[in-house]
Amino acid sequence: MKILDEASPRVKLTEIGQSPMGRIMYIAFISDEDNINRLDELKEYNKKLALDPNLSEQEKEKMIRDGKVFVLGTLSMHSTEVAPAQAAPLIAYDLATTDDPLKTKWLRDVVYMMVPNHNPDGMTMIVNHYRKYKGTKYEGSSMPRVYHKYVGHDNNRDFVTLSQSDTRAINRIYSLDWFPQVMVEKHQMGSTGTRYFVPPNHDPIAENVDAGIWNWSGIFGANMMKDMTREGLAGVSQHFLFDDYWPGSTETCIWKNVIGMLTEGASAKLATPIFIEPTELSVGGKGLSEYKKSINMPLPWEGGWWRLSDLIQYEITSTMSILKTSSIHREDILQFRNDMCKKEVEKGENLPPFYYIFPEKQHDKSELVILVNLMKEHGVKVYQLDKDLIVNNIHYAEGSIVLPLSQPFRAFIKEVLEKQEYPVRHYTPDGEIIKPYDITSWSLPLHFGVKADEIKIESAEIENSITEIEGSFDLLSDPPDTYSAIIFPVEYNESYKAAFRILTSGIDVERLSEDILMNDKKYHKGSFLIRPTDKNADKMNKLLSDMSVSPCYLSTSVEAKTEKMSMPGIALIETNFHDMDAGWTRFVLDQYGISYTVIKPGDFEETEFNEEFDVVIFPDADKSILMEGKYKRGDDYYITDYPPEYTKGIGKEGMKNLMAFVEGGGLIISWGQSVNLFEGTLTITHEKEDNEEFKLPFSDISDDLRKKGLYCPGSLVKMKILKDHPVTLGMEEEIGIFSRARPVFLTSVPNFDMDRRVLGVTPEKDILMSGYVEKEELLGNKAVMIWLKKGEGQFVFFCFNPQFRASTHVSYKLLFNAILIAKP
Ligand SMILES: [Zn+2]
Repeated sequence: MKILDEASPRVKLTEIGQSPMGRIMYIAFISDEDNINRLDELKEYNKKLALDPNLSEQEKEKMIRDGKVFVLGTLSMHSTEVAPAQAAPLIAYDLATTDDPLKTKWLRDVVYMMVPNHNPDGMTMIVNHYRKYKGTKYEGSSMPRVYHKYVGHDNNRDFVTLSQSDTRAINRIYSLDWFPQVMVEKHQMGSTGTRYFVPPNHDPIAENVDAGIWNWSGIFGANMMKDMTREGLAGVSQHFLFDDYWPGSTETCIWKNVIGMLTEGASAKLATPIFIEPTELSVGGKGLSEYKKSINMPLPWEGGWWRLSDLIQYEITSTMSILKTSSIHREDILQFRNDMCKKEVEKGENLPPFYYIFPEKQHDKSELVILVNLMKEHGVKVYQLDKDLIVNNIHYAEGSIVLPLSQPFRAFIKEVLEKQEYPVRHYTPDGEIIKPYDITSWSLPLHFGVKADEIKIESAEIENSITEIEGSFDLLSDPPDTYSAIIFPVEYNESYKAAFRILTSGIDVERLSEDILMNDKKYHKGSFLIRPTDKNADKMNKLLSDMSVSPCYLSTSVEAKTEKMSMPGIALIETNFHDMDAGWTRFVLDQYGISYTVIKPGDFEETEFNEEFDVVIFPDADKSILMEGKYKRGDDYYITDYPPEYTKGIGKEGMKNLMAFVEGGGLIISWGQSVNLFEGTLTITHEKEDNEEFKLPFSDISDDLRKKGLYCPGSLVKMKILKDHPVTLGMEEEIGIFSRARPVFLTSVPNFDMDRRVLGVTPEKDILMSGYVEKEELLGNKAVMIWLKKGEGQFVFFCFNPQFRASTHVSYKLLFNAILIAKP
């Protein structure tokens, strides 16, 4: 791409950011020479068409006449899906050198913004892995880890939260910088189904996204199917499996008026060809029930050899088709973009809700700052009240945050700030419902623990009392010249970040053992106290330089009961099975300055947990993968294609070591399915005396609840929290937890040297806060977070992922507090 950039006036390569491992990410602008020379002017057109609802007719006509359709193509974010990125040089070279009159016409009308690789870290890992095993029997095998620094496949779930640097680089393109009118993200799927998926997607589709977006994706898809079939490419199919109700993928841009879509090609074994027997071809899901000629797949592929080069041919043809469709409909698409801008702004003026207000008073102010800056990064305008105001009989203090819905990205604002209701659709009248493809809750205020009020009345008073927040938002004020103590309130997530960093840098941190009142302000138990000295002042200032909320500076010394904070040694268990939950956990711990050592299940035998660690964290993983290094379903094992050195489990000897750690006073934190490791009979092995068998006083009752009909595909449910426990410090009385109702606990009366406390319980009624649950009542009054003790050993178990995809900030403190109850 760099060579093309140098050699061709039709190609311009631009840096857009860095991957999580520090690789540079690029866009290659590919278009007619004239267009490349006037990119800045065209960028300005894009922006005005996208964001200005009041363009004069004259100005709009000019932009539609002289403007170009910008098509963003993001390739191979999922690194095992190699074909789109491998096709990129061929497509770029062809477009840079062609004199085909059709293609040069497309290039006059269209600017193709090719992101040659959305995930360069992962692609490098996959290529290295492929080369390592090429020519052996493991050629083309799966790679035993996530293909990303942290999140692997979930990089296509990060476009609401924008936690990863590669996600942020792509988001900027369509939310803040270039405003392309069309976006395609290019993927691959399994090997034995249809050859190629093109839009439109299947139901359910998002309620908040305008009909026009769906219409356009249908036009692009129909043209791809026609153009690809004409080229003799069989097996192109549409309108099946892939639904479009959830934001989080790169297609989150459809909530921002971009005609967004995805394509999915059938995979070979990375670059190694495969032969598929016709009898092995199958489909079976939404939209395609049998592998037969049908309206969603008019020309089935008949089987045979399937190679990376075949797939690349599909990639080239589908990409050319998108450019062609954009060229044919150039004026229409540009007009549509400005129509959408107008329409969304008008909806915001005429349909409730009209505003969201985040009151100035918040339990966790650091999360308010994060949410405000996140909305701005999404291209949303955010305002602040410049005086106190009463709306709906509620008093909002000066400084409260206001988001008006009359904005071009209204659909996005509404989608991520409201509570989710899954759009229930059925296959047949009164028949089975179409089950969600992914999660069903992403409401940012609920997930972050920020209070947000929906304002359903129009108010000129609000309009007249707000000022836009320019630049990055914070709640910082200058520290006083002298002070004798700093308190970081326990309620703020950011306080934990500060405390972990300060402690790690060698400065003492204390935690309040009781609530205290100083200068009419209450500081709650668990808050972090630092007593600055001349010696540590510089270091402290550096550590505090990127805080977003000022801590409390006290002029008098604090005479309260405190406990010295110490940092436990942490082992984090990560399996080799594309363990995304462990990856997200690593990300959150890194973000908060908590150091840890990754231990693989196969390392347990050699690990002296007692000597090296105080806490062992088990993120959500399947019990049989942890114990045996392979999937077990019923009595059957699913054998993976990993090279054998990666399929070792904890095993009996490894478990023995872990139990010795418990006996030595260690702490185990576990959530999701990993908790099942600790259910049933456990054994502590003694060298001299008899071995000790015991059962922790809890069981997982989720199988039973599922049999009775409980179905919770990933929703936010309410949890009431036990007060005054070290694990629940700084928490509100109730929060939403991200749950798949697996596991669900039932504790029992303990015997011997064991004990238990239920730390979190679901309410009896009104359990669902956001998303979708069937037979909700079965989840009523259930223990969903527990603390257990065996001798000196401790356990904290969650039924939910407290750090789910780095999007459930509201439950982070539970994880941090749990870590801090370890006894180093
Ligand atoms: Zn993919």
